[in-house]
Amino acid sequence: MTPTNGAGTMTGRERYVNALLGKPTDMIAVGSPTSLATYEQMRLLGVEWPAAHYSAEAVALLAERSYTDLGFDTIAPYFCIIMGAAALGATIDWGSDPWEFDKSTGKIITGPRMPAVKPPPPWVTPDEIKIPDDFLERRESRAIVDAIKILRADHPDAGIVGKVMGPWTLAYHMFGPQEFLINVILDPDYVHQVLDRLRHVSVMFANAQLEAGADVITLADHSTGDLVRAETYRDFLLPVHQKITPLIEGPVILHCCGKTIDRMPYITEAGFEAFHFATENNPHEAKKTVGDYKLVGNASNFITLLTGRPEDVAVEIDDLLTAGVDIIAPECAVPPQVPDANLRAVVAAARGQFEPDPAVTDATNMADGYRAQVAAQSGALPS
Ligand SMILES: [Zn+2]
Repeated sequence: MTPTNGAGTMTGRERYVNALLGKPTDMIAVGSPTSLATYEQMRLLGVEWPAAHYSAEAVALLAERSYTDLGFDTIAPYFCIIMGAAALGATIDWGSDPWEFDKSTGKIITGPRMPAVKPPPPWVTPDEIKIPDDFLERRESRAIVDAIKILRADHPDAGIVGKVMGPWTLAYHMFGPQEFLINVILDPDYVHQVLDRLRHVSVMFANAQLEAGADVITLADHSTGDLVRAETYRDFLLPVHQKITPLIEGPVILHCCGKTIDRMPYITEAGFEAFHFATENNPHEAKKTVGDYKLVGNASNFITLLTGRPEDVAVEIDDLLTAGVDIIAPECAVPPQVPDANLRAVVAAARGQFEPDPAVTDATNMADGYRAQVAAQSGALPS
């Protein structure tokens, strides 16, 4: 298959890695640190979840389409946040729901949903944390590492992005989010102990993926604004991130959903090469907050990519370019219902190659509209 990632003088791999490291690129890098797997691609390939979470060949087939078909610079063969927890021994609901189609149009309505950890959480106290000796040999870890090996061999010019959960997100999965978060107040030492033990999982899994051929690692750690204060990030997680980042043997992008502008100044001190940020944050304000620090994002998944037209996507991407966002990407793992046409529009608009339908004259920045609406509801002024 012929990669469609622009007609520049660099490979997608060089462009993406250079953009992360602050080196020159031939054009703007367009690549997602998180999943770009869609139902359309699953139907096209005959490959679907849940097998395409834990079978390396299926994972690789589904993941490579972002590069070979949609035109991104990257391939990210990791579609669901519970893989680390699964390999740690959590019980998983793999979400093998049936497909549903619109009877008149044949359009996909829904399909296999994202897996989740089944309650009750496996661990209660920090002393119960046990990292299995065979963590890297377990089915879920193996699937990711082996998919990266397949992709590295098949696509030497693609930027391959590995992914791990940070200790904060692993703690949500292994202890339950409420149970873990309540101890930020009740028993800070519990939280410090959990993070200090779980950080080894992130480092071990990241380095295995780099050794398998990944160019970059995304570390997702959801100390997000609606659950955690900026000072909590500073006091609990920042020192742990500062221990993790020097031990990972390649560039690392931090991913965190939700509102994060208030903690971005701390995030820039954590040792990550870049931060992958969400739509809740105005990209202009975010870029002003971090200065030269690299930002990846933040095209709206649930607003623009899911419900907008390609023309609306193009308007939002233009705004991200104006804001100076360093690498253009959706804000997070895309919902699988996102139409491929909208993902193609992300790439085309970023590269100045988007050709709008002349009949569409009312395209808008839907993410700005969403942020203004949220701000109005909370009584704040839109920024
Ligand atoms: Zn996210």
